[in-house]
Amino acid sequence: MLRDNFNRVINYLRVSVTDRCNLHCRYCSDKDLPFTPHDDILRYEEILRFVRIAATLGVQKVRLTGGEPLSRRGITFLIGEINSIEGITDISLTTNGVYLGERVTELKEAGLGRVNISLDTLKRDRFSYITGVDVFDRVIASIEKAKELGLEPIKINTVIIKGFNDDEILDFARLTLENPYQIRFIELMPLGHAGIENNGRYLSNAIVRERIETFGRLDPVSGRGNGNDGPAQIYRLAGGAGEIGFISPVSRHFCRTCNRLRLTADGHLRACLLSDDETDLKGPLREGCADEEIQELIRRAISRKPERHGIACSESRIKKCMKEMQEIGG
Ligand code: SAM
Repeated sequence: MLRDNFNRVINYLRVSVTDRCNLHCRYCSDKDLPFTPHDDILRYEEILRFVRIAATLGVQKVRLTGGEPLSRRGITFLIGEINSIEGITDISLTTNGVYLGERVTELKEAGLGRVNISLDTLKRDRFSYITGVDVFDRVIASIEKAKELGLEPIKINTVIIKGFNDDEILDFARLTLENPYQIRFIELMPLGHAGIENNGRYLSNAIVRERIETFGRLDPVSGRGNGNDGPAQIYRLAGGAGEIGFISPVSRHFCRTCNRLRLTADGHLRACLLSDDETDLKGPLREGCADEEIQELIRRAISRKPERHGIACSESRIKKCMKEMQEIGG
């Protein structure tokens, strides 16, 4: 079992399979940032070798992310192979949903257990504005398809951005009355170049919650808030079929229970999303190093996992991590 210096068990690996994305969300990606050349992206066999080694150390859960993971060819194969690795008990995916509808059946058959779909607005014109692409209907159809297939719980990630979608908080919350979705309100984080532009657009989840409570009572869902729900605090609107989660990395950091490691698309290991400390793995993997050396690199990276992240978000002071979300993997 992997433990860091603060006695946290590290058993969850987020793998970014690409830094490319078919959408260009204004708050997430830097349109001027070139994509990593193909040869510098970890190959599937390298990712799989890393996951196997990490599993020998106690990693049990793997989430594929990006960029947009479904824009990389062969992702179903990757999921199938991860599914056959001893010790891996849970495979999930974070996606913008555009390609999900057409692929979700094969992904599920390959071993995908759960899916998080990002959706920041319920209005088609706003969707096109924030993502730069007019594919709102495809995302909605994908959510429906995932529901039909019973890929539950379907978690919908919604980043609330002041002046853009904060007038839709209740519309999102209302969706949980009749649908078995978990709507997860995520606080806007100050990352990379996009982080500078995001300054002043952050809204704390305390405010989001207050607004929802003007509409209905929020009952805590007991025994939840960790484990597979990760950092979300989970509630249910009285009488609702679905749930509402609050993920508050800025106002209420959940570092104390952080069990994560991240493998970036270009083969670096990060022990904290919001710290720029990275360990190169691609070099050693390509130089043919032994499994034990990779194990040692993992242990060392974990020994440097900070007790908590240092980001803050305010008009006057902004401390942030320098990389874009698209480069790290959200
Ligand atoms: N393309 C996939 C998707 O859209 O879900 C996976 C990658 S995306 C970077 C993962 C998540 O990170 C999305 O839900 C996105 O909204 C979120 N995200 C990106 N930039 C963020 C920021 N600055 N603050 C908070 N969440 C952010």
